[in-house]
This record gives sequence, structure tokens and C-alpha cells, in this order.
Amino acid sequence: MQSTSPSTSDPSKGKILVTGGAGYIGSHASLALTSAGYEVVVLDSLVYGHANIVKDVLNLELVVGDTNDRSCLDSLFKKHSFDAVMHFAAYAYVGESVTQPDKYYRNNVVGTLTLLEAMKDAGIKKFIFSSTCATYGIPTVVPIPEDHPQNPINPYGATKLMVERILADFDHAYDLRSVAFRYFNAAGADPQGQLGEAHDPETHLIPLVLFAALGRIPSVSVFGTDYDTPDGTCIRDYIHVTDLAQAHVQGLEYLMKGGKSDRFNLGNGSGFSVKEVIETARTVTGREIIAIENPRRAGDPPALVGSGDRARNVLGWDPQYADLKTILTHAWAWHLKRHG
Ligand code: UDP
Repeated sequence: MQSTSPSTSDPSKGKILVTGGAGYIGSHASLALTSAGYEVVVLDSLVYGHANIVKDVLNLELVVGDTNDRSCLDSLFKKHSFDAVMHFAAYAYVGESVTQPDKYYRNNVVGTLTLLEAMKDAGIKKFIFSSTCATYGIPTVVPIPEDHPQNPINPYGATKLMVERILADFDHAYDLRSVAFRYFNAAGADPQGQLGEAHDPETHLIPLVLFAALGRIPSVSVFGTDYDTPDGTCIRDYIHVTDLAQAHVQGLEYLMKGGKSDRFNLGNGSGFSVKEVIETARTVTGREIIAIENPRRAGDPPALVGSGDRARNVLGWDPQYADLKTILTHAWAWHLKRHG
């Protein structure tokens, strides 16, 4: 375990451990937390995360370590007195989870269990969890409500569902309260341009479409054109990462006020096909984007669109950037700044 750069935030609202804070969603959530007045410490293995984002952009303490490393967690919980843990650290490549399920069960399930056990022993009772719409599998109702049956069709979704079950049991047995957020497709970038999406390898549709617009890749693949959807390509509900991040702050405040364990979809309630995303990106960027039709990718449900009504009603969540064009405009500004 290695630690750097103390945080300079006002600690008065509470101290939060953000696991995976060097990653895409975790970094945006860390920014939202510090902007709301919380002190944040980041734990990240740096397998996929970026140290410079935490140290140089966010100016936060970064602890380099793994959630599977119990001694790292114990010393972290000895050093800091955390009010809550926000847990983003996970592997999240659906296709890879199909070919290497062991990697996903070990990191996403065993790692989270290790973290929860360490929290239990340290007396930390509040937990915000990054879950996913992939826990639902193939939906029978659209937009998907939270009480929709959960039958994941890929190991990634299964790992997240297992953690949701563990959380219900930890609440019952140990009074550890949690909020699980089931994300639809996180996209976009910090509107102020400080943070954005920088996966390596990049497998997500929107960044790849923008890479094609930049000429970083010759074309983007359309995975499957024979789905039972209006244009034959998969439909997803794209949600701005800053709106996701804001929901996490509201979920934390809900738990701090004594709210009971709950789960919320974070989606906009409207979906766009792969072809529509590419077309909108052509409009936003004004660039040529070559799209090549390819076979389906394993583990992809045809359509995933979620109702965010519960998060709005219970948490007061109020997404500011629900429009696909805005999401693409912010993502494009970020990619132009990095690679343009
Ligand atoms: N997709 C695609 N080409 C790509 C990457 C993704 O057609 O190069 C499709 C993918 O099959 C899915 C949608 O775009 O239907 C969103 O995929 P992404 O990987 O961005 O997110 P996921 O839905 O897997 O979380």
C-alpha cells in the first residue's frame, strides 16, 4: 500500500472512501463529493485507473491498493475515520466477463466481500454501490423499474447482482445500510472539462465513435444489426456521468439522514440505437464517421432503458444533461482536448 497527496477539502461534511476513484465514474463522483464539501480519500489498484487524475486534477489522497487486500483495508481504516464508503472499483468489460469469468468473480464479488468485512470490523455502516442494469438481463418491461426480475445474462451482471444480495444480508445481520445504483450507460464528461472517459482498452461505443471521428481508429464497428429493434441495432439508455455522480452525493446524503437500504436505477428513460448514436455523433462533431456492420457481441441484451423515477422521487435526483446531443458534446470536447 502506498499513499500520496493529502486532501485539502473541508472535512466538516464527512470523510468518504472512494474505491475506484481513479476511474471514469469514480473520478467524477469524487469531484461531485469534494464540490459538495466532503473530504475524499481514493483507494485504487491503478489496474485501469489513472493516478494523475486523483493527484493532479482532483488533488486528493490516493492509496494504491486492492479491495482484495485485507491488510491494506485494515490499515486504511485505522488511519482514517470514514463516514461512508463509495465503491466503484470493479472490472466492467461485459465481453471480457464472458471469456474470463473467474477474474470478474474474484475482483467484483470477493473483493467487495473483503471490503464489506473490513468495514464491518471497522464499524463503518454506510455503503454506496455501483451496480448495473446488466443485473436485469433481458427485460420484459421497458423502461425497466427497480422491481423487475434480475436474471443477468453475462458474468459481469451476475457479479453485481451477487453483491446486491450480500448487501441485503449485511444490512439484516450487521445493520450496514447501503444504496445500490443500477447504472444504465454512463457517458459524457465533466462539463468544465477537468475529467472525462479514458479507458484502456476502450470498448465503449461513444468513445470509440469519437475516436473514429478523430481519425484515431479507421472506423467503428456496429455489433449486430439483426436485433429485434426498429433499426436492428442495440438500444441503450445513455446517462451523463455528471448526473450519475450527483446521484451518488444524494444517495450518500439519504443514508446520512437515516434512510434505509435501497436500490435505484440511474437512467433517463429513453433509449438510442447504436446507429442513432453514430448519426448524432456525426452531427455533433461535423466529422466523417465510418461505421462497419459486424456480428453481435456476446452478452449484449437488445434493449436496456431504465426508469429513473424512483431516484427522482426518493432522492430528489434531477439530471441536468439528459439529452444525447449534450452528452456527446461534452464527450467530444474532452476527446478533442486530449487527442484533437
Ligand atoms: N457497441 C458497438 N460497437 C462498439 C462498442 C459497442 O456496436 O464498438 C454496442 C454494444 O453492442 C452495445 C452498445 O453499443 O449494444 C453499448 O455498448 P457499450 O460497450 O458502450 O456499453 P454496454 O452496454 O456494454 O455497457
